[in-house]
Amino acid sequence: MAKKPTEILIGPTRLSIILGDITRQATGAIVNAANPGLIGGGGVDGAIHHAGGPAIREECRQIVAQQGRLPTGQAVITGGGNLKAKYVIHTVGPVWHGGDKGEAALLASAYWESLKVATEHQLTSISFPSISTGAFGYPLDEAARLAVTTVASFLKEETTSLKEVVFVLFYPRAYEGYCLALKELS
Ligand code: ADP
Repeated sequence: MAKKPTEILIGPTRLSIILGDITRQATGAIVNAANPGLIGGGGVDGAIHHAGGPAIREECRQIVAQQGRLPTGQAVITGGGNLKAKYVIHTVGPVWHGGDKGEAALLASAYWESLKVATEHQLTSISFPSISTGAFGYPLDEAARLAVTTVASFLKEETTSLKEVVFVLFYPRAYEGYCLALKELS
């Protein structure tokens, strides 16, 4: 049986999948699956705020004070506090309501807008968690396919400083789902 690819090249950019903890990644930015209030919740959000320290929370508070709650599918950037990553890009994925409430377009937008923010900041590398597939209930395999195809489309269509995009999956079942999605793409 052919080995599943865990990375592909799209133009000059490497798209790869690893099993791990996103709070430990040393990419220029890590992406947070946040909530609209940008107040650290559970899951990956809680882990990022815990590891990054209070400076990130304070910046999030200021952003919400200035521009209000972050709409689903949008993204904002803060510093990385105590993290290895210099920046955290906070985006809000959709809550899964069965699939006919625009969930796919909103999840694609969360990835796309995060990549746009990274590009605007001239970043060369970024790590994503599996947005919306924890507390927000988006079915993993569908989310994986959408995540991988959206990132691939962005890298094909947009001019970007990014040389490396990493999906960091927290458990083996998620890792397998993303590997399969990447295999389908290539
Ligand atoms: P959402 O509310 O968008 O569903 P969650 O944080 O509940 O966000 O889950 C998103 C994904 O992040 C889940 O697949 C979860 O297993 C994963 N996750 C949780 N902690 C980490 C971590 N430290 N690094 C990477 N992924 C994580």
